[in-house]
Formats: sequence, C-alpha cells, structure tokens
Amino acid sequence: MNTPATSPSFPLIQSDVELQGRNTLALPCKAAFFTELTHPEQLPHLRTAPEIARRQRFVLGGGSNLVLPREFPGLVIAVALKGRTLAGSDDAAHFVTAAAGENWHDFVLWTLENGMPGLENLLLIPGSVGAAPIQNIGAYGLEVGDMFEALDAYDFLAGKMRRFTAKECAFGYRESLFKREGWHLEGRFLITAVTFRIPKKWQPRPGYGDLMAELAQCGIATPTPEQIAEAVMRLRRQKLPDPAHLPNAGSFFQNPVVSAEFAAALGKAHPGLPRYPQADGQVKLAAGWLIEQAGWKGRNLGPVGMYERQALILVNRGGATQEEVRVLSRVIREAVLARFGINLIPEPVFCVLRTAICPDDSPKNPG
Ligand SMILES: Cc1cc2nc3c(=O)[nH]c(=O)nc-3n(C[C@H](O)[C@H](O)[C@H](O)COP(=O)(O)OP(=O)(O)OC[C@H]3O[C@@H](n4cnc5c(N)ncnc54)[C@H](O)[C@@H]3O)c2cc1C
Repeated sequence: MNTPATSPSFPLIQSDVELQGRNTLALPCKAAFFTELTHPEQLPHLRTAPEIARRQRFVLGGGSNLVLPREFPGLVIAVALKGRTLAGSDDAAHFVTAAAGENWHDFVLWTLENGMPGLENLLLIPGSVGAAPIQNIGAYGLEVGDMFEALDAYDFLAGKMRRFTAKECAFGYRESLFKREGWHLEGRFLITAVTFRIPKKWQPRPGYGDLMAELAQCGIATPTPEQIAEAVMRLRRQKLPDPAHLPNAGSFFQNPVVSAEFAAALGKAHPGLPRYPQADGQVKLAAGWLIEQAGWKGRNLGPVGMYERQALILVNRGGATQEEVRVLSRVIREAVLARFGINLIPEPVFCVLRTAICPDDSPKNPG
C-alpha cells in the first residue's frame, strides 16, 4: 500500500520495506508496512487508519539496540521528529527539550556548543534522543536518568499524549518503566520529545576507570567539559567497532549485578575477577571478562561472533539473521552460566512477533 504523499497529518505508508540499512547489526528484516513519522499530528492517523490500526506496531529509532526478525508483519514507525530548544531555566538548571528523532550524539554536541555541559560522558552513543530513556543509556559513570526531567509520549491505547516525569520513568541500570512493562516491544507508547535538566553548576564526572586513566595519561588533573568530551570520543573510537564497517549493537549483555557474598565467593575461585561495588551494597561484574574467560572472545558461530578486541560485543561478520544471533546469545549464556553460575541478560531488544517474549525471562542472578 502506498498512500500518495506525506503531509503534516497523513504520513506516507509504504509496503514491504527492507530495514537492513536501518539497524546497526545489519540484519535483514522486511516490514509489511513502514512509515516515517515527521509530525506528531500524524499519530492519530496511524492509530486509526483501517489498513494498519489492528496490526502489530514497532517503533524504530536509529536501530542501534535491536535484533530484528527476517519478516515483520505489522507496521514499523521510524521516528523522524526533529527540533531542539532551550525550554527554560531556573537558578539551578537549564531545561532543554529535543524531539525524539534527533540524533543523540549531535544533540549532546549541541548542548556543549551552547554552553550547557553535563551530558558529555554520553557522546558517541549511537541512536536517537527518543530511545535514550528506554534503556536509560549510560557510559563512563553517567546515565541519562541523571539529567532527565520528563518525556512526552503518544499512547496508542488511549489515543492521547501523556507526560512521564523522571520518577514515573523509574530508571535503573539499563532499565526503565517502558522496558519493565514491555511497552518497548508492543509499541504502546511512542516517545515524541524528551526534556533534560542540565545543572548550571558543572561537575566533572570522570569517576570511571578508563576515563580517569585516559585523562591522567594526557596529564589532565582538573578537566574541562571539552577535555572530557574529547577523551570520551577518543576512548570510544579506540574500543568499539564502527557498525558501518563491522555491524554490531554495542554491548550485547548487561553487566551482571550480584550480592557482595556471591561476588566474594566467585572472586576466591577466580582471582582475576573484576568487581565494582555499587552504592546499594551489590557488586557489578564485567560481562566481557566472563565471556572472555568462557573462551568466546574472538570466536565465531556461523556468521556471528564475539569481537576479538572486546568480548562483550556481538558482531555480524556478514549475512546473519535474528535466529543466528539468538543461537550465539544462548550458547554464550549457557557457557557463562556453566562456568560462573551467572545468567547473562541480553541488552538489545529482540523484536518479536505479537506474543511479546522478553529475552531476559530466565532466573535472576544471586542478589
Ligand atoms: C557501537 C554501539 C555502542 C553503544 N554504546 C552504548 C553505550 O555506551 N551505552 C548504552 O546505554 N547503549 C549503547 N548502545 C546501544 C544503543 O546505542 C542505545 O540503546 C540507544 O539508545 C538506541 O537508540 P536507537 O534510536 O538506535 O533505538 P532503537 O535501537 O531503534 O530502539 C531501541 C528500543 O527503543 C524503542 N524506541 C526507539 N525510539 C523510540 C521512541 N521514540 N519511542 C518509543 N520507543 C522507542 C524501540 O522500539 C526499541 O524497543 C550502543 C550501540 C552501538 C551500536
């Protein structure tokens, strides 16, 4: 089905659209119906248009945290809403609003260029502004939830806009209300804009091992926002494969968080085990280290494998499908469970058909 042309109220809906170029793992996926959302006014039409209203929906951002199926029989809505603005300020903070389809990295650069530093630790994370709250993106000791004010989303069930505050979003480690409720799989809410609260009093947050070491190596003891920004971008370019050359979805598993007792016992059995104590008394472990010790760093299974320079990154060496990614993910989880008694939880979203099955439906780790 091809409607004649896109307009502020009526989006162009296309049939049988290939999404391989729209996900960073480069998995083939044919969407039965596809549209690019350019104006929020188009949303009611997508809810009620007879040919698509009863079909499964999936909201697509930059496709950098997705494992897509070969066929998607429903409607994929690619969010292309643009715009960013200083929405206001008070004595303590700037409030900045960005439309969901803005590129995340470009948005952070824009805040820096406009004298509102604070988000620089999150530079070069691929994807869109609208997806950032879904898994509460984080890097180098900062999470999006740390500077979040509110988001606006369209509720396809109720057919109206709704605002979510930071408290309502209930952010956790790679976690939010949206993920917990499975709404990110159902396409129930489409986030249209996100407002950030950026404190006027800037504080460096170099409190993460790699970043501190990088700054120290450059002889920087009291960094400026620009120096942190440059160090973060340098580190990421060195460590992470560029999806344009080697398709991947970033870290493929969450770092497991376990009880202090479990971590201590594991540390006795495996003296090299890296351990990161958390504020709540639990201990975060490095999933990449566990995978490496289980013998999977640089190893392939068919067209997929674990990156040779960072075992946490699953890469598509060419021609892979969702099923092959799923099989490798399962094999790695079994290997780590057998060796360490730890259940790894995949970080990217496995887009599944109609009956939404969360990939992390297995038992939680001790703690
Ligand atoms: C090389 C690389 C490095 C990465 N590094 C990091 C990192 O350091 N830290 C980190 O946290 N993540 C990282 N990621 C993961 C990824 O960049 C983030 O999860 C990012 O927020 C995904 O954004 P996206 O727009 O690509 O979302 P997509 O992958 O398109 O979608 C992800 C989920 O969000 C939903 N979604 C997207 N947009 C909307 C919207 N507007 N409304 C409602 N739902 C929506 C989708 O339905 C899906 O469920 C990395 C990925 C890659 C490829």
